[in-house]
Amino acid sequence: MNLKDEQWINIYQALEKIWGYQEFRPPQKEVINCLLQGKDALIIMPTGGGKSICFQLPALLKKGLTIVISPLVALMENQVNELKYKQLSVELLHNEIPRQQRQKTLDKINKQQIKLLYVSPETLLSPPVWQLLIQPHIKINGLILDEAHCLVQWGETFRPTYSRLGAIREVLLKQKPANHKIAIAAFTATADRKSQAIIKDSLQLKDPQIFAISPYRKNLNLKIKIAWTPRCRHHQLLNFIKQQQKSSGLVYIRSRKDSEQLSQWLQKLNYKVTAYHAGLTPRERREIEKKWLENELQLVVCTSAFGLGINKPDVRWIVHYQVPFLLSEYLQEIGRGGRDGKLANTLTLMSEPTGWLDPSHQQRNQYFLQQLQKNYQQVKHYFKQIPKQGNIIEIKQEIPKIEIILSLLYRWNKLTWIDPFNYELTSDLSSLTMNQIIKIAQQESQQMKQYLMTRGCRWQYLLNAFGFIKEAKNFHCGHCDHCRKK
Ligand SMILES: [Zn+2]
Repeated sequence: MNLKDEQWINIYQALEKIWGYQEFRPPQKEVINCLLQGKDALIIMPTGGGKSICFQLPALLKKGLTIVISPLVALMENQVNELKYKQLSVELLHNEIPRQQRQKTLDKINKQQIKLLYVSPETLLSPPVWQLLIQPHIKINGLILDEAHCLVQWGETFRPTYSRLGAIREVLLKQKPANHKIAIAAFTATADRKSQAIIKDSLQLKDPQIFAISPYRKNLNLKIKIAWTPRCRHHQLLNFIKQQQKSSGLVYIRSRKDSEQLSQWLQKLNYKVTAYHAGLTPRERREIEKKWLENELQLVVCTSAFGLGINKPDVRWIVHYQVPFLLSEYLQEIGRGGRDGKLANTLTLMSEPTGWLDPSHQQRNQYFLQQLQKNYQQVKHYFKQIPKQGNIIEIKQEIPKIEIILSLLYRWNKLTWIDPFNYELTSDLSSLTMNQIIKIAQQESQQMKQYLMTRGCRWQYLLNAFGFIKEAKNFHCGHCDHCRKK
């Protein structure tokens, strides 16, 4: 089914009036078509590909409210300010907004004066907001999940609210008039096949249309090197940075502590560099982002906390000083290079396959296992104390960590959400061993490891892993480390 011609006339008029464009970029038109018909969708589109128009335009044309769930305040503020500047009926809610202003927005929602509401997952499920949204008279068209990879990467311990989002639609629909329809669309910059499945599952997407743009970028050179010892890792990094002739770049690293140590070491060598991780205050983070954007800092040594919503076109190089956990993280992070279309170099430093020569590699593995063990012990401990069916808000008073515990149980297939607040345990823990949990984690990281070891074209591996099977056939990029050797 397609939209009628007269509808398209309206759509094109809106596109020109609001954004000043006369044509869509693929796959904007197809996504808009899908969303205006109220169908579920999963959209995999690189940053800078014009994704926000895909959901903003349908939201503005429809009657009723579209809810955009977004992980970062800065991301939401950018988009909302842009739309407000164009005098469109859009608002945002998150926990940093003063009470009075929040109340104003809630009043507007109640009077149905808003078309687009940007909200963080935690605020969406906070009682005053949720109680209002389930009111029968408030028409809700769609739920948009922006940066949906957060479901996969931040699922359990960092932002546990993400694991409850899948139960939202059913509950909303029960409260609304009978013929009410709510579509869900998830947007993400990268998602391999496994991540796609997790997103579909956790959001309970119904027969979603999938729109994906090939991740291949002809201006991104991929290179992987073995760092035999910690010293060797330092050397290879320095050599690489020297070759980049003072151009702007990022060094990705796994932990806060490592990011600070490496940044201090580079500072001593007179590089304009600082460390960036989730332990900094929002203010400190914004300051670093600003300095980097304005080239006051040549590079930032950062954890995966850096990057979301930061758009610097002239990043000439990306180093993974340590290997990221997921292949989709890797792709997303190298994707911050060369957004201006000009050449960008990437380098990933991997440990030698046995891992024995580099004690820091073993320490990292050890630390990772300890974290898993800690999670497992905690869940086991609390499992005995929580009822088979329960309400997260009630239990939170006695067990403050309950959100994380339930989120982990959900991840390990031991729990379902009846609605975003009430859960039911579906089986006991006797069948779940520490070994199985390690296995689940290892499976997730499997593709990343295979990618490092592949002997073929790196881009070909990535195309396959992200579901572009046809495009990957006989593909040789000609500019990755393996293609160049040949
Ligand atoms: Zn290649």
